[in-house]
Amino acid sequence: MAEAVLSLNSLRKSFGALKATDNVSLDVHEGEIHALIGPNGAGKSTLIHQVAGSLSPDGGNIRFLGEDIGALTVAQRVRRGLGRTFQVSSVAPEFSALRNVMLSVQSTQGSSFRFFRPVMRDRALIDAAMEKLEAVDLSERANIPAAELSHGERRQLEMAMALALKPQLLLLDEPMAGMGPEGSRSLTQFLDALRHEVPILLVEHDMEAVFSLADRISVLVYGRVIASGSVEEIRSNPDVREAYLGE
Ligand code: ADP
Ligand code: MG
Repeated sequence: MAEAVLSLNSLRKSFGALKATDNVSLDVHEGEIHALIGPNGAGKSTLIHQVAGSLSPDGGNIRFLGEDIGALTVAQRVRRGLGRTFQVSSVAPEFSALRNVMLSVQSTQGSSFRFFRPVMRDRALIDAAMEKLEAVDLSERANIPAAELSHGERRQLEMAMALALKPQLLLLDEPMAGMGPEGSRSLTQFLDALRHEVPILLVEHDMEAVFSLADRISVLVYGRVIASGSVEEIRSNPDVREAYLGE
């Protein structure tokens, strides 16, 4: 098998005496959605932060596209193609959806989030940003200020901004959170198609979405991967049913 796009080896992170991630190893391959599930407090977000670079691991290593990225900053990892949805706070609420995506596109062109040129006149920039809004089905709302978008639309915008950075891998931490059933269904469809463009490490509580999307699932409990396998293997694993599915 080809080398994994992302390969985590024995990642560890403690907060005081609490082992938030405890020797976590997992891989994400090209074309794949690898879902990470587990109860609240299992360490899923901690793991995502370690991969993104916003938390430094106590030990272990992170290989991304064949390179050890453990010592790189968040921005350096983003430039290498490690994508994640933006925190809500990094969407500029007073700017239109289009302008927000344009800022992401522009940041890949070496002038990160600053106004060095009259962006609204740059046709290529507008086209590239519109293409991303179309991809997430938000182009009709392009000129609406981000603050006026619905919760679901904000999440679509964050996705468009992440995709505008041309990621080679996407880290998604509970993208369905706060979405209604219809929003979850359309995001599920979107991610289903997206895996062929960019592999995804997906943390998600919505089991219906996870079971329909995941190529592989790892189950994290108290910072440890207690099981890893296909949807069928995970669904039928008695330890998982007991620890997580509450059966
Ligand atoms: P999950 O995303 O699976 O719900 P988290 O990774 O957010 O879990 O948290 C794992 C554990 O680490 C929890 O017990 C949480 O309270 C703790 N934790 C997370 N971040 C910090 C932090 N910055 N300082 C102290 N404890 C933290
Ligand atoms: Mg979390």
